[in-house]
Amino acid sequence: SSNADKIYKNLKAAAEGHNIEKDVQIVKTGCFGFCEKGPIVKVLPEESFYVEVKPEDAEEIIGEHIVKGRPVSRLQYREAGKENAGIENISFYQKQVRVVLRNCGFINPEDINEYIARDGYAALEKALFSMSPDDVIEELKTSGLRGRGGAGFPTWRKWLFTKQVEDADQKYVVCNADEGDPGAYMDRSVLEGDPHSVLEAMAIAGYTVGASKGFIYIRAEYPLAINRLKIAIAQARELGLLGDSILGSEFSFDIEIRLGAGAFVCGEETALLASIEGERGMPKPRPPFPATKGLWDKPTVINNVETWANIPVILTKGGEWFAGIGTESSKGTKVFALTGKINNSGLVEVPMGTPLRDIVYNIGGGIPNGRKFKAVQTGGPSGGVITADNIDVPIDFEHLQELGSIMGSGGMIVMDEDDCIVDVAKFYLEFTVEESCGKCAPCRIGGRKLYNILDKISKGKGTAEDLEKIQSIGHAMKRASLCGLGQTAPNPALSSMHYFADEYRAHIEDKN
Ligand code: SF4
Repeated sequence: SSNADKIYKNLKAAAEGHNIEKDVQIVKTGCFGFCEKGPIVKVLPEESFYVEVKPEDAEEIIGEHIVKGRPVSRLQYREAGKENAGIENISFYQKQVRVVLRNCGFINPEDINEYIARDGYAALEKALFSMSPDDVIEELKTSGLRGRGGAGFPTWRKWLFTKQVEDADQKYVVCNADEGDPGAYMDRSVLEGDPHSVLEAMAIAGYTVGASKGFIYIRAEYPLAINRLKIAIAQARELGLLGDSILGSEFSFDIEIRLGAGAFVCGEETALLASIEGERGMPKPRPPFPATKGLWDKPTVINNVETWANIPVILTKGGEWFAGIGTESSKGTKVFALTGKINNSGLVEVPMGTPLRDIVYNIGGGIPNGRKFKAVQTGGPSGGVITADNIDVPIDFEHLQELGSIMGSGGMIVMDEDDCIVDVAKFYLEFTVEESCGKCAPCRIGGRKLYNILDKISKGKGTAEDLEKIQSIGHAMKRASLCGLGQTAPNPALSSMHYFADEYRAHIEDKN
């Protein structure tokens, strides 16, 4: 959308124009994370970091920098008070720890050799030839990895439940890539920038639980990610890393892609599995859980993209290494899509337990135009707000829950003092009402009622009684809805009412 492809083509043409196309490699990578400053061109080995590059800059980068060895200073990223513009000096990256995004922006995702050169498929090889399935589960247990799709369930437990089913003639491994929260693009970036990390992890799970077949369920709105996955699967098959007898072992495993049609509810795992089966994507009551009775009623391990991307590095570096990052109960890192009223919007990966202040001010560069920070919405339409009073609370599963929000998959939308909190809650509720599958009444009817009340309040037509109704309907939805969508849909309204009660009352009393 910002002409990166044109820049790539122009760089190639310029290299040919200078007859150096054989001496310089021009490589497409995945996302660097620093979206605010994109498109980014990095020149190696000197690590020049060019930002906001335009197609017409290509000739200068090649002619001046590559041919004459004179870096183009006007394109270099600069920060006040800092001399060197290398990536290690950029505030946006300094407090980040890139585990999940370790390869994004570093490798060409369309070339399996670049993944292999950075220890890719070493974890699969290690699992197949020097670890038993129980060893793999033990390593995951040591790591403390919890699912990154929202609920934070320990990954090793899920795998163990599936592994323990002994009488199944078939088991499955599924990747949930149906990322649908407004403002969230963590999974898309991982798949676009490092697709093999997910394939490798799924194969490791197949070996561990005894599954020979995997599915990646990805939304059709992600064409580049789908294309790169297809290329990655074909290359892995060619090198014997997927398919029959992987790396000459007795283990066989293959992966198919299934496209989602843009229904947010299909991110709920039972709905997702129904959709893969060719049914309408509607949630089912649990138990039974997919780990023991999932796809076509067979035991199924299902994890989201970010969870998968953590697995290979846990096996190569060890569970203890991973457990050394983060907090006591929330290990590792978390990727957030930082958007909204923030100077440096982008994809951010920080150790669990990092205070919101670091994310907003050090990495995000603060609020634009000198406005005041108001709150951050985490967890998208299922989450809640974190206010300025709580900006120093460590961000992990437990603390977010205590604040009435959730980790969710990692959307983080920053609001400033000009944002109306009622409008924000209304926006999210409109989204969940639209996306409700309609199967159960608390969500189908409750969500609509809640939306109508918020709409009334936002137009200055609300009453004090409406505030009570939000509470009673919201809590009824949380208790009685069948799936996570309905159970969490009232969160933005309940959480914003809790922290900004005065603002809600002002809408009612001032009638605006
Ligand atoms: Fe469908 Fe909503 Fe009920 Fe979930 S809670 S099953 S989305 S109606």
